[in-house]
This record gives sequence, C-alpha cells and structure tokens, in this order.
Amino acid sequence: MEIKAVCILKDQHDMYPYPHDLPDPVSGVNGIVVFESHANGQVLIKGSFTGLTRGKHGLHVCTFGNLFNGYHSIGPHFNPRKKFHGGQHDKERHVGDLGNVEANEEGVAEFQIEDHLISLSGTESVIGRAMVIQAEEDDLGKGENEESLITGNAATGLAWGVIGIAEITAS
Ligand code: ZN
Repeated sequence: MEIKAVCILKDQHDMYPYPHDLPDPVSGVNGIVVFESHANGQVLIKGSFTGLTRGKHGLHVCTFGNLFNGYHSIGPHFNPRKKFHGGQHDKERHVGDLGNVEANEEGVAEFQIEDHLISLSGTESVIGRAMVIQAEEDDLGKGENEESLITGNAATGLAWGVIGIAEITAS
C-alpha cells in the first residue's frame, strides 16, 4: 500500500472561528508539502514555500492537528519516542524534526528530502497532525541552551496546516 499525503500551509489567522487577539503579525507565507510513502520504508517529502525571509527556516511536524489557535494549539514537535530535539539526520531527534528549508532572495524555498522516521500509517503516523514553517532557523539541538533541545530555538510559526491523506494505492 502506498500512501500520499498533503499539507497546505497558510498563515491562517483569518480562519479562526472566533475573533482573536494574538500578537502574531500576518506573515504572508504560504506553502505546500507532499508526502509519499515508499516500499523501502522511506517517506519522500517535497514542497515549496513563498513569502519567506531569505535564509533558513525550521520545518516541523507537531503533535496535534488542532488549528483552533493557529500554531499555538498544535502542541510540541511530534515526539512519540521521547527524544530530545535534533536535526533530521541525528539519532537524537523528534520524529517531527525535519531540519531547515532555505529561502532564496525572492523568499522562495523549494525542498525535497527523504526521511526514515516520518510515517503515514501505524501508531506513529503523522496524518492528522500539523506541520509548521518557523520564523527562525532551527539550531538542530546544538544551541547549548535548554530551548535548543525542545524547539531548536525556532518556535514562532509563520504558516501551518494539517497533514491529510491525498491518495491511497493498493499494491
Ligand atoms: Zn524537535
């Protein structure tokens, strides 16, 4: 069985069901991320963002798909294995730690990665959870302070969305 999933990331303040008074400025950042499970257990993750500032921005899957309060209600990085925060290629990392994407001068970031911890089925599935692109660079747990091992010092969301199933192919 092959599964495809998709996440549309937006600065979704205008989608809140009630008026809010959060201090977050409207970021104007938008993105789309597509996930494809492969038979070898890897998941291909590819996507693009617009509206970013030039440079690196952390990309994370968080625990809850609850956008009631924007990125404030999506919980910590998805961490079913009770690890510290890290980089995508580190042994010590949250399942939801996908490192950074890098935006060019036009504010566009395009990326394609393979990951062996992200899964689209089973007990550690990311389906129904949220993804967020951050305002800051993720220090990948190397920031030598407490927050580095929790969020990589990248905890302000610019755009977010819920990961949903796009297609299931029996094989
Ligand atoms: Zn993390």
